[in-house]
Amino acid sequence: MASTNIHPIFDRLVQQEDREKRLGQNAKVLWLTGLSGSGKSTIAQALERRLFNEGFFPQVLDGDNIRTGINKNLGFSVEDREENIRRISEVAKLYLNSGIIVISSFISPTIKSRAAAKEIIGKENFLEIFVNTPLEICEKRDVKGLYKKARSGEIKNFTGIDSPYEKPVNPILDLKTENQTVEESVDEIIEHIYPLINI
Ligand code: ADP
Repeated sequence: MASTNIHPIFDRLVQQEDREKRLGQNAKVLWLTGLSGSGKSTIAQALERRLFNEGFFPQVLDGDNIRTGINKNLGFSVEDREENIRRISEVAKLYLNSGIIVISSFISPTIKSRAAAKEIIGKENFLEIFVNTPLEICEKRDVKGLYKKARSGEIKNFTGIDSPYEKPVNPILDLKTENQTVEESVDEIIEHIYPLINI
């Protein structure tokens, strides 16, 4: 039987663009990278709240909802760290394709791991933000007491202590949080990304 519909696939599939129009935003992945204690999670949560209050539709991906869920079988070996980032990137991409602004908050210490994330997510949608806080400050904050454990050898391969952190080469934003409040950091991010997420 001849179909009267000459574009069956396009009619059936709801495209990312359709979802973005419905949500009134351009979907992006804001990829926060930086040392432990640099402020990624704090900024991610404050940014999520601010964007949401301004009418956007954001979603944070962090250790709380990824490491304890889909990635709970992964450790901190080189292979597991790679797999961790690969799964995070695939999840971010699913949200992205749903029209959502993703804020990801993971150390992602190597240039290679962030390049892999960018490859999966797509370079036009991957916005790398360097939460640039000096090691001394992160160590002084020692939010979770992890630096102390790393220094005493209780934790091995800790980023910044006995495992390298490679700074981003060309991030869209180099956020120097040292002399900023969380709100000022969020302001700076919003200023940069607003033209990219606003429809
Ligand atoms: P990470 O997620 O990178 O490991 P956290 O967000 O858990 O880091 O911890 C950062 C700590 O630094 C928090 O206690 C936060 O209150 C503090 N802090 C001070 N100034 C800032 C700032 N400008 N941006 C983010 N966090 C800050």
